[in-house]
Amino acid sequence: MLRHLLDLLLPVECGGCNAPGAALCPRCAALLSAPIQVRPPCCPAAPPVYALGSYQGCLRAALLAYKERGRRDVATPLGTALASGLLQLRSLDADCAAEAVWMVPVPSRASAAARRGGQHVELLARQAAAALAGVEVAAAVAPALRMGRGVRDSVGLARAARRANLAGRVLIRPAGLPPRGIPVVLVDDVVTTGTTAAACAATLLQTGVAVSAIVVLAAAGCHPPS
Ligand SMILES: [Zn+2]
Repeated sequence: MLRHLLDLLLPVECGGCNAPGAALCPRCAALLSAPIQVRPPCCPAAPPVYALGSYQGCLRAALLAYKERGRRDVATPLGTALASGLLQLRSLDADCAAEAVWMVPVPSRASAAARRGGQHVELLARQAAAALAGVEVAAAVAPALRMGRGVRDSVGLARAARRANLAGRVLIRPAGLPPRGIPVVLVDDVVTTGTTAAACAATLLQTGVAVSAIVVLAAAGCHPPS
């Protein structure tokens, strides 16, 4: 409530660099650009993982402001950037250019989502779908995954521990599944080791949902494939 009142009284600041004027200033928005394929250490080569930026500096600050500091207004420019990245990937793949873009958001743990006021990646995907609709590209969000009980925050866990933490704990939400036979793009805000993305893609595949690509806003410490 207080934040809403302050938002009305104070000018908007950039979530990345605090410059006045917009939720994400042009300089910080430019940190999200064309998708680059990255190879997180714990993610198999398929499906390919694409990142729109690097998880550092002002982009990291903007993502943290959105995710952890209640800056829900940053979801709109972040979602627009995600839409732009998806459009660029789609133009590379002529086979799917006529089809709708189906996005499956990587879920957060229920406790984290409750603390943040919702599933933040799903909101990003919904903003991206709205931006795509604005340029007359059909897009939909399929919130088909959830984290089961017992999943811990993965920050600080070693690779093997991350895998063990997630094994069998990414679950299907049947009500959120896309139509049968439709390939999806798995979307997330940040990829680090790739363990979570790989577990999500594997769970979808076990249910018969093909993941054509994994698209994230920012990659932490990932290098393009050589
Ligand atoms: Zn900025």
